[in-house]
Amino acid sequence: MEASARSAQRIDVLIGGAGFAGLALAIALRQGLGPSFSVTVADPALTGAAKDARASAIVAAARRLFETIGVWQEVEAQPILDMVVTDSRLSDVVRPVFLTFEGDVGPGEPFAHMIENAALLAALVEKAKDEGVTLRTAAVAGFAFTNDRVSVRLSDGDTLAARLLIAADGARSAIRERAGIASHGFSYGQSAIVATVAHERDHRGRAEEHFLPAGPFAILPLKYDPSVGHRSSIVWTEQAHEAARIVALPDAEFHAELERRFGLHLGEIKVVGPRRVHPLGLSVARTFIADRLALVGDAAHVIHPIAGQGLNMGLKDDGLNRLFSNQSDVLRFVRDLGLGVVDRLPALKHLFIREAAGLVGEVPKLLRGEAL
Ligand SMILES: Cc1cc2nc3c(=O)[nH]c(=O)nc-3n(C[C@H](O)[C@H](O)[C@H](O)COP(=O)(O)OP(=O)(O)OC[C@H]3O[C@@H](n4cnc5c(N)ncnc54)[C@H](O)[C@@H]3O)c2cc1C
Repeated sequence: MEASARSAQRIDVLIGGAGFAGLALAIALRQGLGPSFSVTVADPALTGAAKDARASAIVAAARRLFETIGVWQEVEAQPILDMVVTDSRLSDVVRPVFLTFEGDVGPGEPFAHMIENAALLAALVEKAKDEGVTLRTAAVAGFAFTNDRVSVRLSDGDTLAARLLIAADGARSAIRERAGIASHGFSYGQSAIVATVAHERDHRGRAEEHFLPAGPFAILPLKYDPSVGHRSSIVWTEQAHEAARIVALPDAEFHAELERRFGLHLGEIKVVGPRRVHPLGLSVARTFIADRLALVGDAAHVIHPIAGQGLNMGLKDDGLNRLFSNQSDVLRFVRDLGLGVVDRLPALKHLFIREAAGLVGEVPKLLRGEAL
């Protein structure tokens, strides 16, 4: 590697991974440090062949970042106008509502929007090209550190000599592993079934989080699609083996399981597009930086999707999910009491919603909506 590093193309930063984290960082670096600062993003998925079928809740702080770097304007987003949280058993006929939120963190600013991942990723790729980021359809296959560089071998055979390598290659980061950085965490033993559901009636921008005994079942509003009609995205948590069983059911049986949880308050429902399962875990890398290497996004930390915070960079612990995935009547009483109190105290509720929107505490510049 030493010899090839001397002859290799020299760049400032090489980012391995073109997900939300890698692309947003590449754009922000070019915008903040100017055209003489060279940034390359390498990812085999840049062919665009495999589309991410998921949708994500983008909280206000993350939205401000996407606005500031100039991609939000290109994406059709559904504002979350209000939210209800219920806590019940699957067999309960009526689901008691313990918490309701109106969706604004400030005048006219919803605390979160729903977007489709593929649309936001496409907008990020276009913006990255406009900003002069070099995109390479290749994986980071290996690297070695020299005196003042990191020599990075790509899967297409090229070698680049960068001043900094950034691992943005997701939860199972091979770059992190290759650098010998341990990651601590655990699996929840749960998986999330994710799908898009078409329904007869308008969701009116309402998000629902139903805390069922197996875990949270979220119904998240999507933008109206003329070819499908009213739509929502579901994130349906089950024990891992049960999720695998359910997702493999024939259509009619899957539909019956879905309807038991979704209900008929939005009229008849129908799954559109693929159903997918994502194992859920929590992990944090032992360090986010090393010599000439930095970890960002899921490569650095992964949290439960319960609060839609994955992108909002590793802020929360996992207590909420544990509390809600338990059938104990005592725990149920305690959590309902807690939610009931939050629901009745407007100031606390406002704090809760600003916290969920990523706007509490030390908020970095881009998340405040300010350029670097
Ligand atoms: C079910 C579910 C629901 C979620 N819902 C939300 C939500 O509502 N809101 C929210 O904020 N977050 C949510 N999240 C979390 C969010 O999706 C992640 O935090 C986010 O996608 C992480 O982005 P990333 O760029 O770090 O990694 P990824 O999106 O995983 O991207 C990593 C990229 O690296 C590439 N790659 C892999 N190996 C290499 C290599 N060797 N070289 C180069 N490239 C490589 C991959 O091809 C991939 O494109 C959810 C997660 C799950 C599982």
